[in-house]
Amino acid sequence: MATLGSIPENQSPPKHIQHHPTSLRNWYKKINWLNTTLVIIIPLLGLYLTRTTPLTRPTLIWSVVYYFLTAFGITGGYHRLWSHRCYSARLPFRMLLAFTGAGAIQGSIRWWSANHRAHHRWTDTMKDPYSVMRGLLFSHIGWLVLNSDPKIKGRTDVSDLDSDAVVVWQHKNYGKCLLFAAWVFPMIVAGLGWGDWWGGLVYAGIMRACFVQQATFCVNSLAHWIGEQPFDDRRSPRDHMLTALVTMGEGYHNFHHEFPSDYRNAITWYQYDPTKWLIYLFSLPPFFQTHSLKTFRSNEIEKGRLQQQQKALDKKRQTLDWGLPLSQLPVIDWDDFKARCTDDGEMLVAVAGVIHDMSLFVSEHPGGKMLIKSAIGKDATGVFNGGVYEHSNAAHNLLSTMRVGVLRGGQEVEVWKKQKTEAMKGNWMQQVTRVEKLVEGAVAA
Ligand SMILES: [Zn+2]
Ligand SMILES: [Zn+2]
Repeated sequence: MATLGSIPENQSPPKHIQHHPTSLRNWYKKINWLNTTLVIIIPLLGLYLTRTTPLTRPTLIWSVVYYFLTAFGITGGYHRLWSHRCYSARLPFRMLLAFTGAGAIQGSIRWWSANHRAHHRWTDTMKDPYSVMRGLLFSHIGWLVLNSDPKIKGRTDVSDLDSDAVVVWQHKNYGKCLLFAAWVFPMIVAGLGWGDWWGGLVYAGIMRACFVQQATFCVNSLAHWIGEQPFDDRRSPRDHMLTALVTMGEGYHNFHHEFPSDYRNAITWYQYDPTKWLIYLFSLPPFFQTHSLKTFRSNEIEKGRLQQQQKALDKKRQTLDWGLPLSQLPVIDWDDFKARCTDDGEMLVAVAGVIHDMSLFVSEHPGGKMLIKSAIGKDATGVFNGGVYEHSNAAHNLLSTMRVGVLRGGQEVEVWKKQKTEAMKGNWMQQVTRVEKLVEGAVAA
């Protein structure tokens, strides 16, 4: 018998609204109206009010200052302090970040961090709350304005944040915090400061919050869309100066996803990462507000960079013709090789135990036709490796594309054995025809 509230056995659980086809009767149920009001409707209202609200110079300056303060609440506080625990901060600094972060209208620290940890853990999958794989617009703002099925989002542990009284208090009182930090406080400063109450609300409150929101959303969209991937290209995060410029340094996102607990996003001094600079500045006397700043060893960072460079090189290598691998070439007896090179026969030349077909190249040989013709049907290892002329790197590369066979026993000569084993293993840098130390008698063609 079904208990109260359980689903009868012959009935499947009701699907979340997002799994139903959109129609005129249900479209509004798919919208998260609270978020839509906070990230679209109020900003549009603010934009409308700017038409009739003059922007005074002090209000403009205050709006810019408060923009950076609230943006830092997100980048230095919500993101690097609480989501990733990149450093520790003393109580006054945490209170400041919780206040300014609330003023950015992006949810409570607890809610924001839970989503962000899921984003890192399940990047580019359906469990990533703002996966760019669901479209640029979805990762930017769509995930906020649409109701999402809570069963889809990846779960993360944020219990560590419960030991921070500032986080717990802000979460419980988030509505009041938002109202005061986002709109009332900037209005009071402009009102009491220079009598511009209305301008303070419209510009330093509503429009400033809109800009901070859009800048932060760019980290979820643009930083997964444009830029380079110097550390790993298996997933979408990218490094780009443009996104760093609008997000107080959060645009070095490829680095950040690889080394999320590093308090830096940009690792070189000339890259723009004011969030990093501020965290560092507040660790110094006389502030002493931040401490235990975490960084990854440069050895680890360089390993990642090198592996990515190697990957790019390997990719490029695969587009080039290096000749057939030795292991795929037919083995030809010396007598057969000689027999195939009669007067009207093939133009085969053996170099370092490998047989090459020179017929298409003979007339293009920079050293002239005669030298090649004189080597046909013979072992030209010596002449090719300095007996007549020390051939260039490019010549060895070109020769490898003409491989047609391997001489039986041709690889038994000891000095060649080692390097050919390397070539057999697929070491593409190894030029099998290059013989560093000639065996006596090998010079004679
Ligand atoms: Zn990301
Ligand atoms: Zn992050």
